[in-house]
Amino acid sequence: YAAKEAGRDLRVFDSTLDDGTPRRLALVAELRDALRQSELVVYYQPKVRLDDEEIAGVEALVRWHHPTRGIVGPDDFIPLAERSGLIEPLTGVVLESSLRQCRAWLDEGKHVPVAVNISVRALLDPGFVEQVARVLERTGVAPAMLTLELTESSVMSDLPRCMGTLHQLVASGVRISVDDFGTGWSSLSQLRHLPASEVKIDKSFILAMATDEHDIAVVGAIVKLAHDLGKRVVAEGIEDKLTWRKLADLGCDVAQGFFLSRPLPPERLAAWMRENALSPGHPVDAPDAAV
Ligand code: C2E
Ligand code: MG
Ligand code: MG
Ligand code: MG
Repeated sequence: YAAKEAGRDLRVFDSTLDDGTPRRLALVAELRDALRQSELVVYYQPKVRLDDEEIAGVEALVRWHHPTRGIVGPDDFIPLAERSGLIEPLTGVVLESSLRQCRAWLDEGKHVPVAVNISVRALLDPGFVEQVARVLERTGVAPAMLTLELTESSVMSDLPRCMGTLHQLVASGVRISVDDFGTGWSSLSQLRHLPASEVKIDKSFILAMATDEHDIAVVGAIVKLAHDLGKRVVAEGIEDKLTWRKLADLGCDVAQGFFLSRPLPPERLAAWMRENALSPGHPVDAPDAAV
């Protein structure tokens, strides 16, 4: 299998594949089986507050534990799921596992809010608000413990259709976060129209911050704008201590990145919380958890 030999660069799904080709149909069938056979596993990456270095929550990031291809990252199958009608069940699986995990932590006395990534495709499903409410009810997790992350580009491209659903979710107590902020080419002022409580600055700005003064200026401007609009700011992609310090200087609220921890399976995260939650800055060496 050619893709397998390419190792980490494998593309399970090639977005140029035409709908209806035999190979694409075979991949869709494989993903449908993966959903049924619980091959989709949720990893969690901690988000840490820059002021007191306490854990602010975790982001749920799905992986496909493929029987022959190994661990496949979401960029390689989410687009396929979005185009083949599997994103709704996939979203359901991730929501369910994340909230069950959140419940399990609560039962251990740990208050760990979870953030789940949602495709606009799934958000626009007419049953979505009800589906979220049901999972919260079934797991007995407070709506405020759940944040839904939506990318800036996808929300802005379909803002009129998203708005009603977003307001319903916010009214139910769930929080909204604007993911990958800064890459969506929307005007910064459009942010004020979104009923979001959090902005996540895209990692492309953060990764270069330690060396690039211009990126520091951009990040500083986003932090100020978001704060002026009453929103919390999360930076993703913190890979070193210098970037952590610069973000603290800029007044950013929360940091997420390999410097703190890679996304981890729940049992590894529990160990991380025991060892690091009160003293981030000691990256966990987790080679097998990386995707
Ligand atoms: P995202 O929501 O922006 O998630 C952040 C991505 O950055 C994750 O990649 C994470 O592993 C990676 N990352 C975290 N810290 C660092 C760092 O310090 N340096 C670098 N270079 N990268 C870092 P991942 O897990 O491969 O996910 C990719 C994207 O797939 C996510 O981007 C999200 O848009 C999407 N995704 C993940 N899980 C789901 C899901 O359950 N549903 C949907 N619809 N999309 C998902
Ligand atoms: Mg995200
Ligand atoms: Mg992001
Ligand atoms: Mg992203």
